Amino acid sequence: MKVLVINAGSSSLKYQLIDMENESVIAKGLVERIGIEGSNIAHKKGGDKIEIKKPLANHVEAIQLVLEVLQNKEYGAVSSMDEIGAVGHRVVHGGESFSGSVLIDDSVMDAIRANIDLAPLHNPANIMGIEACKAVMPNTPMVAVFDTAFHQTMPASSFIYALPYEVYEQYKVRRYGFHGTSHKFVAEQAAIMMNKPLKDIKLITCHLGNGSSITAIKDGKVLDTTMGLTPLEGVPMGTRSGDLDPAILEFLMAKLDMNVAQITNYLNKKSGILGISGISSDFRDLIAASKEGNERAALALDVFCYRVRKYIGAYAAAMGGVDAIVFTAGVGENNSGLRKKIMTGMEYLGFIIDDAKNENGKDAFVMTADSSKVTGFVIPTNEELMIARDTKALCK
Ligand code: ADP
Repeated sequence: MKVLVINAGSSSLKYQLIDMENESVIAKGLVERIGIEGSNIAHKKGGDKIEIKKPLANHVEAIQLVLEVLQNKEYGAVSSMDEIGAVGHRVVHGGESFSGSVLIDDSVMDAIRANIDLAPLHNPANIMGIEACKAVMPNTPMVAVFDTAFHQTMPASSFIYALPYEVYEQYKVRRYGFHGTSHKFVAEQAAIMMNKPLKDIKLITCHLGNGSSITAIKDGKVLDTTMGLTPLEGVPMGTRSGDLDPAILEFLMAKLDMNVAQITNYLNKKSGILGISGISSDFRDLIAASKEGNERAALALDVFCYRVRKYIGAYAAAMGGVDAIVFTAGVGENNSGLRKKIMTGMEYLGFIIDDAKNENGKDAFVMTADSSKVTGFVIPTNEELMIARDTKALCK
């Protein structure tokens, strides 16, 4: 079966066509500037890359273009649309409605719409992506895979905020967590590498990218995760503040003469390592600047690594120990120096880095010494493959 994976944003749409016989990517691409002047598609098949500029008024036109490109004789990947057995859609917020992936029908669409309140920027774009696909390929089964679903296994003691309980009952204000598809994927891969069932391993998965979150997994379920009602909570990120004293909001709104929308934007887009350093939200830029002696770049990296370490310690305590710690996503996968900076001083926990392995490992690998009680893994995440696997499982 060939599965088309769609990740629709408000003005962009990423896609991958995956052959589920061998889980290989046949073709993938990105449509940008949907509904904005200068729309274009960048499509890749094997080593070949093409780019087409074409006005795209909306997501239906974007999906039509994706399907045209996929069927193109020269650089396409299928001879007809019938070869696409199913479509898997990434949906950001499933609220409390979904603890797993589901086949999309009208009631699922209603539930995704009902959760727009919780993800006003993301869910409408995901809905547009699904509706566009339904319009263009009405007979192809579609599956929704939620960023929040894996975290629905979290106990109430982790997800309830210490606010009046009515706000949970009335408005569903609680911790949800995000990057669930990524955390689940790397957790399952770690279990395979350890040759043990996931339910028998205490695991901490660190998804460290532009957005970052850390998850504690015990008995195969999420015990806790760092993101909350929105992706703003937890460790500092590229541009997001992470955890704060909530009283800072009122203080800064007064000092900086900001309204609610402005302070929300400030915390989401101007803070994190960008805010501290004043240079960039990209970790590579900060590493370069810090090597050249920029103190605020160095401080931003210190704050990031310290806060990640603090959560790892907290989660080890919460689970009563930890068997393995996994690093994934842009920073977690690619930067041995930051991994080392985060994990140095964790020997008390039984985590002993092997420098050669940490620096030279490729793809999915162990970064700890054979004598390390806790195994450190670096595992590339693959949310698209996870979405395709769930889609195949539901569309057999
Ligand atoms: P997103 O959250 O956008 O999916 P990614 O997981 O792709 O992010 O991570 C992107 C981030 O990874 C970039 O902001 C960059 O800072 C960081 N990154 C990528 N490669 C490296 C590297 N070699 N060293 C440090 N940071 C890196």
